[in-house]
Amino acid sequence: MPELPDVEVFRRYFDATSLKQKIEQVDVLDKRILEEATENSLRAALIGTTFTGTRRHGKFMFAETDSEPWLVLHYGMTGFLSYVRNSEEQPSHTRVLFSFEGGNHLAFVDQRILGLASVTTDPDAFIAERDLGPDAFALKPAAFRDILQGRRGAVKSAITNQNVISGIGNIYADEILFQSKIHPKRALAELSGGDLKKLHQQTRKVLQAAIDAEVDVDRMPKRFLLRQRDSGGPCPRCGSELATTKVSSRTTLYCPACQPEA
Ligand SMILES: [Zn+2]
Repeated sequence: MPELPDVEVFRRYFDATSLKQKIEQVDVLDKRILEEATENSLRAALIGTTFTGTRRHGKFMFAETDSEPWLVLHYGMTGFLSYVRNSEEQPSHTRVLFSFEGGNHLAFVDQRILGLASVTTDPDAFIAERDLGPDAFALKPAAFRDILQGRRGAVKSAITNQNVISGIGNIYADEILFQSKIHPKRALAELSGGDLKKLHQQTRKVLQAAIDAEVDVDRMPKRFLLRQRDSGGPCPRCGSELATTKVSSRTTLYCPACQPEA
């Protein structure tokens, strides 16, 4: 499932392929991807404009145009982008196809349709309307601490709640907690100032390392837990057997030796 690092890689891909070309056509191949937008509103907003830049907030991506509207994309569970020379090369499950002057196309693909394509005139208003928390990668240490301090519940539930902090999902939450040596079920209220500082540092480090590796697991640091996620291997730090548990009904991987419960 695309989390902040994946969406950042998609954003860079979008920048590298799809800027500064006039949009000639927008084809919505499955309207379920639109939620509140309509095919007509998407086409009216985008045809004849060019994409000029992008920004990201959490798991949302916004593409600015040389006109008023911005394109909004959310990648859900299975979304990705594919830039193709020929519309026949579009991947299966393409939901929206943007066709540029010059003949190339950008396909927004999402097999399970849990993502979203929309338009907005104001990304900040869009973020506020959805009550999204600050972007996980942009948060400074003091703001990070202020947001989490005094909250109830388990640390993993808080850092994966998009209304608290935007961008972290199940996989990267497990990684950040592993690198911070904090048990995923620890109550936020029990964490010290030092724990929160470490959690902030590791949030930055883990997200940066994943972006640097272009989310290719084989290129991520050897000490990363997520390299072991499918293989069921030992703890990359201490060699103990890893364990799983459920937090907010999500499967959670951790090392009982490195991340003690109390
Ligand atoms: Zn360990």
